[in-house]
Amino acid sequence: MEFVEVFDSPGKGRGLRAIKEVWAGDVLFAEPPFASVVFDSHASSICHSCFRRQEKLQRCGQCRFAQYCDRTCQRAAWEEHKQECAAIKSYGKAPNENVRLAARILWRQDKEGSVVSDTQLTTLEELEDHLYDISEDDLKDFKVDIHNFLDFWPRSSKPHTVDSVSHILGVINCNGFMVSDQRGLQAVGVGLFPNLCLVNHDCWPNCTVILNNGKIELRALGKISPGEEVTVSYVDYLNLSEDRRRLLKQQYFFDCTCEHCTNKTNDDLKMAGALLEGEKVPEETVKEVTEYSRTMLEKMEKARIEANYNEVVKICRECVEKQENVLADTHIYQLRMWSTLSEVLSYLQFFEDAATYARKMVEGYLKLYHPNNAQLGMATMRAGVTHWQGGFIEIAHGMICKAYAILMITHGPTHPITKDLEAMRMQTEMELRMFKQNEYIYHTMREAALQNQPMRMMAEPVTESIKNLFRRK
Ligand SMILES: [Zn+2]
Ligand SMILES: [Zn+2]
Ligand SMILES: [Zn+2]
Repeated sequence: MEFVEVFDSPGKGRGLRAIKEVWAGDVLFAEPPFASVVFDSHASSICHSCFRRQEKLQRCGQCRFAQYCDRTCQRAAWEEHKQECAAIKSYGKAPNENVRLAARILWRQDKEGSVVSDTQLTTLEELEDHLYDISEDDLKDFKVDIHNFLDFWPRSSKPHTVDSVSHILGVINCNGFMVSDQRGLQAVGVGLFPNLCLVNHDCWPNCTVILNNGKIELRALGKISPGEEVTVSYVDYLNLSEDRRRLLKQQYFFDCTCEHCTNKTNDDLKMAGALLEGEKVPEETVKEVTEYSRTMLEKMEKARIEANYNEVVKICRECVEKQENVLADTHIYQLRMWSTLSEVLSYLQFFEDAATYARKMVEGYLKLYHPNNAQLGMATMRAGVTHWQGGFIEIAHGMICKAYAILMITHGPTHPITKDLEAMRMQTEMELRMFKQNEYIYHTMREAALQNQPMRMMAEPVTESIKNLFRRK
C-alpha cells in the first residue's frame, strides 16, 4: 500500500493513517469486494454479476435464483456462484442476503485464506463483530440467520463452528457496505471490503468513499499530511450532532467524539430562525414551526413511500409556506422540504417551481457542507438539471460546472456520473452560447430537447437515497 498504513487510533481501535501527502481527489486505495451479493429485494431486477439493472435477465438454469445480463456475466460470476448454486438447489430456496454473503465469504476464505491479496491490510478474523453490542430485538433475527446458515451450509463444505459463523455475520452487520448500481444512484446489494472496514468515522471527514466499476475507492477531500488519520463519514452531516451520535451508537456501537460533535458545530445554524430586516424571529415562533415541520416531514415521508406525489407536493407546499420568513435557509427541516419539493415538482414537470426550491436548497447546503462533500455535488447537479429543464440556462450551466468540479474529486473522472456531468457541461455550454446569440432559437431547441428527455436520469425521485453509505437496517 502506497498511501496508507494500519495504526492504533487513540480511543478508536485500529485505523488507517496516511504515509504520504495526498491532495483533493487523490485515490488512497481502490479495493474490490472480498464478496458481495444482490439484495433480496433486487434479486430479480439486478444482474448478480455486474450489478446492472436490466429489463430482461437470464436465470441460472441450475438454481433458478441467480440472474444475469448474458452468458458473459454468468461466466464471470461462476467461480463465486458455483458452490452457492449447488447449496441453493439442495436447500430448496435461496436464504436471505446476510446468509448468502456470509456463505460466499466463508467459501472464499476456505479456498484462498483470510487474506486474498498483498494489498489487503487485515484478516477477517481481526475485524470487529460487535456481537456483545447487538440489541435484544436484533439478536432474535441474528440467531435466525445463524440457524439458517447452518442449515444452508452443505455437508460437503468445510464445517464451521457457531462462533466463526457468528463472527462473520457480526462483521457483515456492522461493516457491510452498500453496493450501488452502475450509476451509483441506488443501493442494490451489500459487500464486504476489508480495508474499508479499517477506516474510522468522523462527522467532518477528510475522505469519501465511492463505488466505481466494481471497486470502492477511498478519495481525499483535501490535503492530508503523513501521519494524519484518514476518515470517512458513516452518516449524513445534515443531522444535528445529537442525532448523528444516536445513529452512530445504534448502528455502529460507538460514541462519536469528533470535533464537530464535541463542539456541536453548526447545530445552531441547522435549527436557526430567519432574520427579518436584521430582526430575529422570536424563539418561540421558531420552536413552534420546527415542531410543526417535524410532524409534516413524517407525513411527507409516508406519502412519498406510497408514491402519492400529489399528496407530497400538497404537504410540502403547506409546510414551506409556514417555514418562510420564520426559519433560516440553513434550517435542516426546511432544507429537507425544499429538497423533496423540488424533486417531486420536477418529476411532475413543474420545472420552474422546482428550480426555485432547488436553488434555495443548494444555497443552504453551501453554508453547511464541506465544499467537497459528495452530497453537495449531487444536489448541485440535480439543481443544475432542474434549472436546465426550467429554461434557466445560465444558472444551469454554472451549477453543472460547480457540480462537475466537486464530482471530479469525490467520484473521479472515470465514474459514470462524472462522465454524464461532463456531457451535460458541454451541452449546456453550447446552449448558453446559442442563448446569447439568439434566444428564440434557443427556446425552440430546448422544447425539442425536452420532448426527447435527454437528461431524464435525475427526474425520477430516488426512493432509497444512499446518503448513508454503510448499510442500515
Ligand atoms: Zn451483468
Ligand atoms: Zn445457480
Ligand atoms: Zn461526530
